[in-house]
Amino acid sequence: MDSQQTRPFRIVIAGAGLVGLTAAHILHHAHIDFVILEKRGDPSPKVGSVMTIWPQTSRIFQQLRLSEVLDPLMESLRTSMVISGDDSHTIDVSDFPSVLEKHHGWGLRILLRTQLVEALYTMLPEEAKSKVLLGKQVESVYMDKVGVQVTCQDGHKEEGDILIGADGVRSRTRLCMEALRQHKSPMIWMRDIKARIAQPTGQVEPLSDAPSHMKCDGVNYGGATQYLHGKKVSCFAIYEKLAKPSSKHHRYTDDDKREMLERWSHLMVMPNYSVRDLKLTGGNIGPYDCEEGFISDWYHGRIVLVGDAKSGR
Ligand SMILES: Cc1cc2nc3c(=O)[nH]c(=O)nc-3n(C[C@H](O)[C@H](O)[C@H](O)COP(=O)(O)OP(=O)(O)OC[C@H]3O[C@@H](n4cnc5c(N)ncnc54)[C@H](O)[C@@H]3O)c2cc1C
Repeated sequence: MDSQQTRPFRIVIAGAGLVGLTAAHILHHAHIDFVILEKRGDPSPKVGSVMTIWPQTSRIFQQLRLSEVLDPLMESLRTSMVISGDDSHTIDVSDFPSVLEKHHGWGLRILLRTQLVEALYTMLPEEAKSKVLLGKQVESVYMDKVGVQVTCQDGHKEEGDILIGADGVRSRTRLCMEALRQHKSPMIWMRDIKARIAQPTGQVEPLSDAPSHMKCDGVNYGGATQYLHGKKVSCFAIYEKLAKPSSKHHRYTDDDKREMLERWSHLMVMPNYSVRDLKLTGGNIGPYDCEEGFISDWYHGRIVLVGDAKSGR
């Protein structure tokens, strides 16, 4: 493996999701060489729902000079409300998003995840974009005293001084790192999944007389709702606690989706409105498991995990 003495410091990144692409902007500005290996063939896949952007992320966007493009895509929330999921009586109403804005310059802002990923990719300068290699699925990692060598499923290899694992909640980098630490070969980790979420991949028709720029949480034992209501973006999610923790990965069928919606159709999403009043305007509704957990060691030698890759158990 080449050592740093024979070439400039170089970072290999696994994954071109939100965190990998943000890292690409940062490293480009810092003049640090990098390559990103992304398993998908499409740099901005149409997956995901609405994201809430907190002030610290807005600040990073501003520092990376991305605000000009991202600001028009975002809508500020003004009010935060918590209601009972059973009968929609008000538990709490606050102008928390506006207070955040007053103290931090930005409040809570919402935008579609697809727009964010697309903007992060298209806003990369050409030189940086050429370092995002698509269709490259990280398979194994070799590490020694001078660097790392990452091998993809198609045999493609990249060398660098460090490896950043930004490959999401089912991170292959995490498995490889743990295997190197324990001197074993990578194996699948089973984690306890305790809840699932149903969230449209499209949007919902805004509830006509509901106040806009509002976030509303409907709480209830075993199931809860979240409704985000802007002028351009309107979306909801249902969170369901599983009857018992499971370590199995589920692939949900259309019947599962219908049943989950039906099971919680009575839950209130806003005062006077329940799940059954919401109309999808496109896309699908995908239950998926909440796989996030905690790991105690998120780096080892020349490998570091970031973003969702470090959220696995
Ligand atoms: C329902 C839900 C709602 C959320 N809402 C919000 C929110 O409102 N606000 C917020 O800030 N966050 C939210 N999050 C969290 C946020 O979406 C994630 O934290 C974020 O997407 C993590 O980014 P990431 O880059 O670490 O992972 P990802 O976005 O998952 O990207 C990982 C990338 O790695 C690639 N990859 C995977 N394996 C490999 C491999 N072996 N080789 C190469 N590439 C690989 C994937 O294709 C993908 O492109 C939400 C998450 C969920 C599940």
